Amino acid sequence: MGGTGALVQGFVKKFEELGGRLQCNAEVNQINIAKQGNKKIATGITLADGTELAADIVVSNGDWANTYRHLIDPKYRLWNGNLRVKLTQQSMSLFVIYFGFRADGQEDEKLQHHTIILGPRYEELLKDIFGRKILAKDFSQYLHLPTLTDSSLAPPGHHAAYTLLPVPNNRSGIDWSEMGDRLSNTVFTFLDERGYLPGLKERLVCHSYITPDYFEHDLNSYLGNAFGPEPLLVQSAFFRPHNRSEDIANLYLVGAGTQPGAGTPSVMMSAKMTARLIAEDFAVDEAIVSGKASQELSYR
Ligand SMILES: Cc1cc2nc3c(=O)[nH]c(=O)nc-3n(C[C@H](O)[C@H](O)[C@H](O)COP(=O)(O)OP(=O)(O)OC[C@H]3O[C@@H](n4cnc5c(N)ncnc54)[C@H](O)[C@@H]3O)c2cc1C
Repeated sequence: MGGTGALVQGFVKKFEELGGRLQCNAEVNQINIAKQGNKKIATGITLADGTELAADIVVSNGDWANTYRHLIDPKYRLWNGNLRVKLTQQSMSLFVIYFGFRADGQEDEKLQHHTIILGPRYEELLKDIFGRKILAKDFSQYLHLPTLTDSSLAPPGHHAAYTLLPVPNNRSGIDWSEMGDRLSNTVFTFLDERGYLPGLKERLVCHSYITPDYFEHDLNSYLGNAFGPEPLLVQSAFFRPHNRSEDIANLYLVGAGTQPGAGTPSVMMSAKMTARLIAEDFAVDEAIVSGKASQELSYR
């Protein structure tokens, strides 16, 4: 197993040695709350199969809007009420096609590992996506061809790729079950006819795609947003959802919808921020949080 896989396995092993339990593929249906006087405290979670798991703290990595809207009874939420969640502008969504195809040996002359193909319009396309929430006839895309860097990612003589198109979130009302096939066909034709990947359709070995419905129904992301609340000025920094719940003690949030924002580096930063807040609330030694303490100390 490669570097990252081994690292994750090592982490899981250590976690389990310390008495931790990692449960995958377990849908959370509810965050359980208890009232102590005026204080509301997170006490654990209930899974979709009805199992209740008690916990000292709850950290939700799910979408901010759906964590509050679907997992917590509105009677416990003053700050993050349904109206606030509904009024928050959600970011765009994505249409992503994953595909494998036979190489013709010329890809490395025309394409890079990352290729951004801009459409004819810029500002107006953004207005279609964010404002008008319509699927325009033209599009911009980010074509990702990692096999140009590491050929072991596909069988010999083949490439593995995805291409990503920004599209409106599901407030658009677009019927993706009807639109998905059409759009993926249009994109393949574009890549073929514009000379990015000539003859692509004949060379395709496999393909699949995800639409905003995947973000909404599989990842439980409100309106199928791909990046949490839209990073507008009034929804950024302090105004972006907080990593420590204002409504409920011992409840924390982490990930793209929280501070500082979406994208892998920001999500890693949000994990650090959330860990710091928990450490503050539970008087954990700063050396442990900053990683300056020895491994032994961190695991005590
Ligand atoms: C195709 C694509 C390409 C990207 N490329 C880049 C890039 O090049 N660089 C970059 O910085 N960022 C990129 N991003 C964005 C980046 O991947 C995301 O911002 C980041 O992964 C979000 O991390 P997260 O932990 O907040 O959410 P996720 O990784 O979505 O994790 C949240 C998890 O919570 C689970 N969940 C939700 N609700 C529940 C529930 N009730 N019970 C149990 N589980 C639940 C979901 O199923 C999901 O697995 C890309 C995104 C996509 C889709």
